[in-house]
Amino acid sequence: MRHIINPPNPYNRYSAEYVGEPPPTRLEILEETATKKVITKAFASDWEGGWRYTVNCYRGCIHGCTYCFARQYHEYLGYGAGTDFETKIVVKPNTPVLLRQELKKTRDKMPHLDFSFATDPYLPLEAEYQLTRKCLEVCAEFQVPVGVITKSPLVTRDIDVLKKLKKVSVFFSLPFLTKEKSNPFEPYTPVPEARFRAMRQIADAGIEVGIGVAPIIPGYNESDIPGLLERAKEAGATRAFMSMLHLDTDSIEAYFVEKMHERLPLTRVTKIINTMKRERGGSLRHRTYKERGTGKTEQWEVTKKLFEFHSRRLGFRQHETPVEAVVATPPVQQTLF
Ligand code: SF4
Repeated sequence: MRHIINPPNPYNRYSAEYVGEPPPTRLEILEETATKKVITKAFASDWEGGWRYTVNCYRGCIHGCTYCFARQYHEYLGYGAGTDFETKIVVKPNTPVLLRQELKKTRDKMPHLDFSFATDPYLPLEAEYQLTRKCLEVCAEFQVPVGVITKSPLVTRDIDVLKKLKKVSVFFSLPFLTKEKSNPFEPYTPVPEARFRAMRQIADAGIEVGIGVAPIIPGYNESDIPGLLERAKEAGATRAFMSMLHLDTDSIEAYFVEKMHERLPLTRVTKIINTMKRERGGSLRHRTYKERGTGKTEQWEVTKKLFEFHSRRLGFRQHETPVEAVVATPPVQQTLF
């Protein structure tokens, strides 16, 4: 049983602390009527041009990756970046309608749309709501190029729509080779094997598919890089990118460290923390946005070369990476009911 753990929300004046064991978590689905725009402009430092346009039909993510940078966006809603992010899921059922309205106005200027960045577009809830699917249908109608980043095989349900798009790439976020290695950091995601199988299906359908070896957690999964790239190649992927773990806020750092202590032996945790601190110049956090996805030491250079060598050897295309973007401004609080 999971218990509520949320680091204090910096946007709230008060935070709750439980005397004794916190109560168990429970899944809450909240529907929100989006009243403004559903296309968000986000900045991605590594991407040529910098700006990305993203659509997210949900807020929060049941997959619960402990390293997830999107946890901070839940704090804008007044929730916690810990278990609240994983269990209080906000659904925006009118996203496809608003997307159509926006694209009617902007279609000639919209260079692309990314489905990702604030949540996984293929949460288990998507099986019922089908909002990502409906949005993809709108994109097909307006012939807008699309990028999808997911950890879920549910994306294969939408192969028929993806094939109608003018230009599309599907990236699977896959930083660990085995379930055992993934579990401490990605406790509720589909296992790596399921992601590779889905990758194969997408590639077999003739859709461009890639692997995101992200995050690299220093001292933990660098050695998985060659194997991940090889498996991805076998599964039909043609593109690959990599980036280092970045803990964007105090809350994310606190939750990440707490969960490591819960799920890994102390020696392993100490190794990760010490290696990470060396890469960040003494703390677990990067100092500037530019340093967000990269390290400072020669060891990181070796890791990068390892990735580049195997990417080249296997014929992956690089440098057109859908790196993680940061929402430029906190989303406006909208009506919950
Ligand atoms: S699947 Fe993506 S959005 Fe969801 S918790 Fe993991 S990293 Fe965050």
